[in-house]
This record gives sequence, C-alpha cells and structure tokens, in this order.
Amino acid sequence: MDPKELCSTDLIDGTVGAHIKRPCNSLPTVIVIGAGISGIAAARSLYDASFKVIVLESRDRVGGRIYTDYSFGCPVDMGASWLHGVCNENPLAPMIRGLGLTLYRTSSDNSVLYDHDLESCMLFNMDGHQVSQQMVMEVGDTFKRILAETVKVREEHPDDMSILQAISIVLNRHPELRQQGLAHEVLQWYICRMEAWFATDADMISLKTWDQEHVLTGGHGLVVQGYDPVVKALATDLDIRLNHRVTKISNGYNMVMVTVEGGRNFVADAVILTVPIGILKANSIEFTPKLPEWKAAAIKDIGVGNENKIALRFDRVFWPNVEVLGMVSPTSYACGYFLNLHKATGHPILVYMAAGRFAHDLEKLSDESAADFVMQKLKNMFPHASKPVQYLVSHWGRDPNSLGCYACDLVGKPDDVYERLRAPLGNLFFGGEAVSMDDHQGSVHGAYSAGVMAAENCQRHLLQKQGHRENLPLVSSVRHEMFETSIPLQISRM
Ligand SMILES: Cc1cc2nc3c(=O)[nH]c(=O)nc-3n(C[C@H](O)[C@H](O)[C@H](O)COP(=O)(O)OP(=O)(O)OC[C@H]3O[C@@H](n4cnc5c(N)ncnc54)[C@H](O)[C@@H]3O)c2cc1C
Repeated sequence: MDPKELCSTDLIDGTVGAHIKRPCNSLPTVIVIGAGISGIAAARSLYDASFKVIVLESRDRVGGRIYTDYSFGCPVDMGASWLHGVCNENPLAPMIRGLGLTLYRTSSDNSVLYDHDLESCMLFNMDGHQVSQQMVMEVGDTFKRILAETVKVREEHPDDMSILQAISIVLNRHPELRQQGLAHEVLQWYICRMEAWFATDADMISLKTWDQEHVLTGGHGLVVQGYDPVVKALATDLDIRLNHRVTKISNGYNMVMVTVEGGRNFVADAVILTVPIGILKANSIEFTPKLPEWKAAAIKDIGVGNENKIALRFDRVFWPNVEVLGMVSPTSYACGYFLNLHKATGHPILVYMAAGRFAHDLEKLSDESAADFVMQKLKNMFPHASKPVQYLVSHWGRDPNSLGCYACDLVGKPDDVYERLRAPLGNLFFGGEAVSMDDHQGSVHGAYSAGVMAAENCQRHLLQKQGHRENLPLVSSVRHEMFETSIPLQISRM
C-alpha cells in the first residue's frame, strides 16, 4: 500500500478526538503552513522524501511575498524581484539556470546603493533639474566616509543606537563631512536608498548590525521573466490547499492539530510554520499550549519593515535610458526613486519604490491617489510625461497575509533572537524568511533555505521518533537534479 495514500485518509484531515490508526511502518505526515517560497521548499523536500504533506495557504494563490502580476501583458514583480547574489553558491541558482531565466544585473558587489550601481542612476532636484553626475559621485564618496566613521562610533558605544543617531554623531565630530544645499539633499537620497534596503527608516536601523549581513557575491540580478516560474516549478504536484487561513495550532506530544478559519481541523505528526514574521507579531494564530516566553520574546524583538511598489505602464518611453530615476529632497522621507524596467525587460514600465514610514503612508491612500502622487513626481522631472495606461499598487503592510515586507533588526536586538525564532517546539518547526541562517533574512534565497532546513529538521525528528533511523536515509534537499543543467546563469545588461 502506498503510505502516502493511507495517511491522507487516516491522519491529515480529521480531529484530535477522532480515532486515528496507522500502520507502524507508515511514513510520517506533515502540515506546512504558508505557500510562499519557504513553505513550498519545505513541502517539496518532504514530498520528495515520500512523506505525506499538505500545505495550508490563506491566500487564493501561491507565492506569498513573491507575486508576479501579468495584467500589464508582461511579468511585473510586485514583491521580490532581485536575486541577491548572482553566484553558484546561491541556493536558487540551480533553479534559475534550469528554468532558463535571465538575470539583469543592476549592481556588482559592495555598491553604496546596495542593489544598484551609481553609474546607471540619474538624480533630479525638487525643481526637476538633473543633479550633476559629479555631485552624485562626490556625495556618494562622502556617504561612504560617514558610514566608515559610524563603525568607530559603534566601537565606542557598548549599547546599540540607530544608524541615524550615529550619522549625527559623526557629522558633529567631522563638520567637513556635512553637506549643504543640494549636496545635503543628495546625501538624504543615499540615506533613502539605505532605508529601502532595510525597508525601515534610518532612525530604526541598528548601528550594531546594519553592515553585518552576509550578502552573497556576484551582485544583484533582476529576474527578467519574474519570480513566478520559480514558485510554480517548486510547487508542481504538491497538495496545496488555498483559502485555508490557519487560526490555531494545538501542539501535542504525538501529533499537531491545525485549525483553519471556519473550524475545520487538520492533524499530522508535525507542522512547519512559515507565515511571515508580521503575522506572528500580530498574534493572529493561537498556540496551544501558549508559546514559551523565550519564543514570544523573540517574535517581539524582531522588527518588520515595509516596502511598496507602484508600477506604471505607459504607451511609450519618455524617460532616459538609465536604471534608476531618483528625486532628491531635504529629508530622506521625501526622496524617492523609480526603477526603469524598460532597461531590463524592454517594456515601457516604471516602478516607484517606497520603504519604511513612507511605504505605510502610501497605503493610506487609494490606489488612484497613490498613482497620482507618483505621477506628480514623474511630471516634475518630465513635464511631458504621458498618463499611465495601467497601474498596480502593492499594500504589503496592511495585507493580512503579510503585515509587512520582511524582517529587520531592531535597535538593541538581542544576539540570539533569530536562533530562538528558529528553534522547534516539539513537533512544531519554524521556517520562513525571518528564520533564515547566516543573516539572509529578507531574501528569497534565505526563505528558501529556511524552508529546506526546517524540513530536514522535521524529517530527522520524526524518523528518529519512529525508529526509522537506519532504513530511511534523509532526503535533505529539494531535488535539484530536476533543475540541474550545465548551462551557466544567464546575465544581461543592456
Ligand atoms: C516589496 C518586496 C520586495 C522584495 N524584494 C526582494 C528582492 O528583490 N529579492 C529578494 O530576495 N527578496 C525580496 N523580498 C523578500 C522576499 O519576498 C521574502 O523574503 C520571501 O518571499 C519570503 O518568503 P516566505 O515563504 O518566508 O514568506 P511568504 O512568501 O510571505 O509566505 C508565507 C505564506 O503564508 C501565508 N499565510 C499568512 N498567514 C497565514 C495563515 N494564518 N494561514 C495560512 N497561511 C498564511 C501567506 O499568504 C504566504 O503565502 C521582497 C519582499 C517584498 C514584500
């Protein structure tokens, strides 16, 4: 008898009160909560190891914070769009290669603008006049010097502080680094870019950790065809139940019961929870028994940022052939930028990107007002800008399935906070972007690896419990042979 089939009737869908019988040689059952890349990667690993696995997903689609919209007639990623680390060490590289996806590299390693190179940015002042490239470069160098000085501030202060506070200390010590007039506005734009990377404002970015990320090498590549094919390929053949919002997890010694909106229960030997950190922070899932204090504190002590995109499709291109069109301003809050998708994809699309408080404020507007707002910015630079033919607006902060864009370090974050978030509780395992190892929070590859790791830990735990140790070798990762090819990553830059 196929153990998968047996378990599907006996174990997965029922109640704790039901009489559950299973043959002793059957493989364990697992429920994965969340069909983002992390949950799908976890489910894929387990499925490939012949476990019975179902995925419960609250939305009516898979992908989570990967969302490729096709309504413009071409793919537009409203969530993740870059592969951070265009290198073979990136765990997503085999899939990207195998699916034949093209990466458009917007920056090499260690750019002061994180995922962009300065050379392909054009900045404009508030009157709509272009800022000279020389000033952009010079202020960029000053910004690097200021950041280097903040490292000294960190060494002097045992207690953490925000990067904004550290910058202010540096500028008081080194008045020669202060910028005036337009140069000050350009400096604010660099801070705006930093805020975009961390998806939070500079007064919330931790001085202690902002430069401690282990960013993979190879620079940053936009996935030209969109991230959707990656999700779809991984999700093939998995049992994913859409519109199943989990409201309660009852974690018993021998099994876990998961309750979804409407009251239906699902039972399995173990659960892998991959919902976003914003959902955990909002306490929208009830845990029985209650989460231990150290776990609840970890959830509280991890921050969550916000980032939103407003994508505009035009009938023609009226802007210059650069990757980024930026607007400088006296405050980083009022600075902004458009990503020119035309450069990477050939389609006449600009994507306005907002982070932190500004991203939250944009969500308070109607979509039409948000699109009008960014159109004003565009018209300021290009008075003859045509009206967009279509627009799309994201709302990651107030979307009840995400409640933010990704995890960020709070000022004063305890050192072990991610380890505590990651730690399993009996038969309950934690995946998702926020638990990823080696500081890869906030990335697709980090979320993917976190899912695979949670699946490995879950498999090991369950097989040991059942005494399968010798008979069943762990299938430790997603079947990469399905994607493995000898062709290199395809990288373009027009
Ligand atoms: C605007 C934006 C831009 C980004 N840009 C990049 C980028 O360029 N490159 C990059 O590498 N990363 C980027 N990221 C981060 C990346 O998208 C995430 O790190 C990654 O997709 C998270 O995957 P996940 O599976 O952990 O979470 P999710 O994708 O959020 O998956 C969790 C799933 O759980 C579901 N869920 C929530 N609550 C429940 C519930 N109660 N019951 C059942 N299901 C539930 C959700 O609907 C969701 O599908 C970006 C994110 C955003 C928002």
